[in-house]
Amino acid sequence: MLACDSDPQVRMKEDRMKVTGSCFCGDIRFEGEVNENAIGVCHCRDCQIFSGSAFRLSCGADPTLFKFTQGTPSYFDKSTDSGRVRRMAFCGRCGTHLASLPASERDYGYVSIRIACTDQFDQITPRVEVFCKSRVKWMEPLQGSEEFDEMPDMAILGEDQ
Ligand SMILES: [Zn+2]
Repeated sequence: MLACDSDPQVRMKEDRMKVTGSCFCGDIRFEGEVNENAIGVCHCRDCQIFSGSAFRLSCGADPTLFKFTQGTPSYFDKSTDSGRVRRMAFCGRCGTHLASLPASERDYGYVSIRIACTDQFDQITPRVEVFCKSRVKWMEPLQGSEEFDEMPDMAILGEDQ
């Protein structure tokens, strides 16, 4: 199954923004710093299933600045096509998905915050759409957002690592 977490996270010009967030029931809280240019809509099948919706909004975040500030999330380790593992963090009580994290040092080192549960949600605009090849047929492309069939090559997005 093709999924966004099976590829390296998009790396773009950094415009950093501090975010805080929580699950629906409030047991778990987190904070982090996101790259506003990496706020994206993902149409991959895994995101559709995990979100229970047509797509998921996520944003790449610096793992050294991300932390859970209240409560302890539950985890589900999801294997990807590449053999790497992503650790999905969610609230064990209300089920809200909060973030995905690297499962070990050999896995991609980024955090992906599920933007809908941040307190800054109303300030956020998606900049990219990824895995458009599995976008639902009844949805139009988003205005002002760059489209990619799968996960774009980092070079396309103008960032050297
Ligand atoms: Zn909860």
